[in-house]
Amino acid sequence: MSVRSVLVLAALAAGYFLAGKAGLSLAFLNPSASPVWPPTGIAEAAVLVLGYRVWPAVLVGAFLVNFTTTGTIPTSLGVAVGNTLEAFTAAYLVRRWANGVHCFERAQEVLKFALFAGGVAPTLSATVGVATLWWGGLAEPGTLGQVWLTWWLGDLGGALVVGPVLVLWSLAPSWPGLRHAVEATLLTALLLWDGALVFTGLSPLGERRYPDAFLTFPILVWLALRLRPRGTATAVALLSVLAAWGTLQGNGPFAREGANESLILLQAFLSVAAVSSLALASAVAERRQTEAALSDTEETLRLAAQAEDDRARLIEAQASERLAQALLHERDEFLSIAAHELKTPVTSLRLFAQLLNRQLAAGELTPELVNRSAEVIDRQSQRLAGLIDQLLDISRIQAGRLDLTRATMDLTEMVSEIVDTTRLRVNDRALIFRGPAKALASVDGERLEQVVINLIENAIKYGPVGSPVEVTVRNGPDVTWDIRVRDQGPGIPLEHRPQIFDRFYQVEATPHNPGLGLGLFISREIVELHGGQLLAEFPPEGGSEFVVRLAALQETADHPESAAG
Ligand code: ADP
Repeated sequence: MSVRSVLVLAALAAGYFLAGKAGLSLAFLNPSASPVWPPTGIAEAAVLVLGYRVWPAVLVGAFLVNFTTTGTIPTSLGVAVGNTLEAFTAAYLVRRWANGVHCFERAQEVLKFALFAGGVAPTLSATVGVATLWWGGLAEPGTLGQVWLTWWLGDLGGALVVGPVLVLWSLAPSWPGLRHAVEATLLTALLLWDGALVFTGLSPLGERRYPDAFLTFPILVWLALRLRPRGTATAVALLSVLAAWGTLQGNGPFAREGANESLILLQAFLSVAAVSSLALASAVAERRQTEAALSDTEETLRLAAQAEDDRARLIEAQASERLAQALLHERDEFLSIAAHELKTPVTSLRLFAQLLNRQLAAGELTPELVNRSAEVIDRQSQRLAGLIDQLLDISRIQAGRLDLTRATMDLTEMVSEIVDTTRLRVNDRALIFRGPAKALASVDGERLEQVVINLIENAIKYGPVGSPVEVTVRNGPDVTWDIRVRDQGPGIPLEHRPQIFDRFYQVEATPHNPGLGLGLFISREIVELHGGQLLAEFPPEGGSEFVVRLAALQETADHPESAAG
């Protein structure tokens, strides 16, 4: 055992002894049984806080108090054993069922503490003690009941008034802050002033022994609501000292002819006051703790939500930054392609104009040259006009101003005409057309023509020289017409397929593939404005097949296919 432990035990025994002596000085009925017994609170708190191992100090302290009072070793030993058992039992029960030293944190456990430490344990001590006194011949048989009650109430008061103060102050004594300390001091002073009026001869109230002990309750409640259990227990203990002193002076509501009777009544009152105010204080503390935990949780949740928001905002900002950069990049690329595409026909027009000029000046202008020049000028200006049309369409689409003028049209007639006209222009390619006798649909003829021409031109542009291009009109799924344009070209690599309908998208921008990468985009917009679909299919035999799928007008939808071109 360390020196420190020995010192603690010695201090405990000494404390018990002194408190016991003070208590016995108020033993009026029997020299060994006092109605005021703080040692019970000291012993119970010590075993609860320090552990069962401190029992020898309780035993020694109790033995010495009694031995120096009654003088016999066996009776003092008996009483001391009863007192030790009391502390032991209280600590055991409180630890087992009332949350141990933390029993003052919840109202329910305060009540259990009162039952175990104030009710059950003192029963043991009073019974063993009074039996010992009777056995040792130290108590009149006729007074045993009264002595037992005095003993029990004395211990009860000690347990409920002194015990909580010691337990609560032993738990990491913390500085509650200046405001709280000032408030605690003021409220305690107010309670003592109130106590002085009720219990002492300071006022006529005390002197006349009016039954006005209840006047302390408003202040006790106020205290319990504002102070923590520790402050409340301390204030009640101070009030008890004052009340006991006043009562012994013959003042206050509990003063009777016999001092013992007065103190017994006072103890009962103080025990009730202590338990009620402690239970209230702990309930308030419990609520404050719950509120704090709740607001902690709320704060944590709020911070988490804010962090999530910030992250989302950051991601959004990064995404829009990337999008802006991509758009800028796309625009730059488009401008350079557009400039290049526009420049090519313009350059060619200029060259022919210069050539014509020179030949004219030299007087060498021949009809053949004029014919050829006219042909080139016509072709190049058509190309220029086509490019400008595409740019105009794009700005219309972006402004949402690409409008359709619909009419019922025969797709077979329309498409076969386009094929015939194209055939006149292109002579290195077999253009094959198949379609039903009639295929009616409600379309904007000019716009749909633009789409079909674009698809056929792509098929010619991207298919190898000499390979055929097949154009078909036939029933699509549900009630639709499919206009299909099939070539024998290289098809489109898998990784590019998802993008070919995007604005400005070209699989490969080379001088052999002139264009702005707008044809398919504009075509899809036009077809979708019709409520139809523009699809790209890539048959396993190779080549590409672009499909314009449009709602059919019922009349002709079921007509069988027939060759027409
Ligand atoms: P462009 O004006 O460049 O032809 P389009 O929007 O019409 O623009 O076509 C986009 C890209 O899709 C083209 O650059 C080309 O690479 C590819 N493409 C279109 N049609 C065909 C086809 N029939 N065969 C192979 N590739 C094609």
